[in-house]
Amino acid sequence: MSDTATLITFLTRHPRLFILTGAGVSTDSGIPDYRDANGDWKRPQPVTYQAFTGDDTTRRRYWARSMVGWPTMAHARPGLAHTALAQLEHAGHVELLLTQNVDGLHERAGSVRTIDLHGRIDTVRCLACETRSPRSALQEELRRRNPAWAALEARAAPDGDADLEHDNFASFDIPPCPVCGGMLKPDVVFFGESVPRDRVTAAFAALEQADAMLIIGSSLMVYSGYRFPQAAAQAGKPIAAINIGRTRADDLLSLKIERPVGEVLGELVQGMGALQ
Ligand SMILES: [Zn+2]
Repeated sequence: MSDTATLITFLTRHPRLFILTGAGVSTDSGIPDYRDANGDWKRPQPVTYQAFTGDDTTRRRYWARSMVGWPTMAHARPGLAHTALAQLEHAGHVELLLTQNVDGLHERAGSVRTIDLHGRIDTVRCLACETRSPRSALQEELRRRNPAWAALEARAAPDGDADLEHDNFASFDIPPCPVCGGMLKPDVVFFGESVPRDRVTAAFAALEQADAMLIIGSSLMVYSGYRFPQAAAQAGKPIAAINIGRTRADDLLSLKIERPVGEVLGELVQGMGALQ
């Protein structure tokens, strides 16, 4: 039996899935990931909440790189995996699609039952008055204030970042909140920051309703994601994973497929169609 046939059997036995996705579903869309097949960092770790809010130069460096990296994120299109998962939902197999990605590509592909565990990079939040605004509007303002930087290019990095180096990040001009003058931050959960409680509660409620869990394109090295397979295992729900390389949940899995996620999900959706 091929691994796809095994996955089809898994889905037939457990038709309602709690799905958790990670960076591996978006790499085909040109958005790099942070970790190698062993789950180790393959690039410098992302900025922490404490450094972003506490250090002026770190914050300017973040926004300068973000301004250069934004077009890659803004122009990214859903890949095979996103499309297949939207089809799987349409066929009634998705209780919840919980994603650790901040790129919004699941929604763009047509998935509706989604929770963005770590927030969305296309939204900006004021840390003082909580006003949310589109990242695209801030992009215009950043470019207006920093014309010399606007022409710079750098290799795309994860989460809308770019590998931009500069000897004077302190000269990068970042606007305050237009409503209250407070500090702006991307509406994503940084390292050192907690996931909002209501998001976690809603995700656990969906997990309770689901028949099984499917992990896709994530090594689950971050606890905010890893706690879900832990809870699924405790509840006696079977767990499958499609991921090239090690995951932190490997000893909890009843099925693991180590092939490109888009390829496997495409075959799964096709195979499910053939059954009907
Ligand atoms: Zn504000």
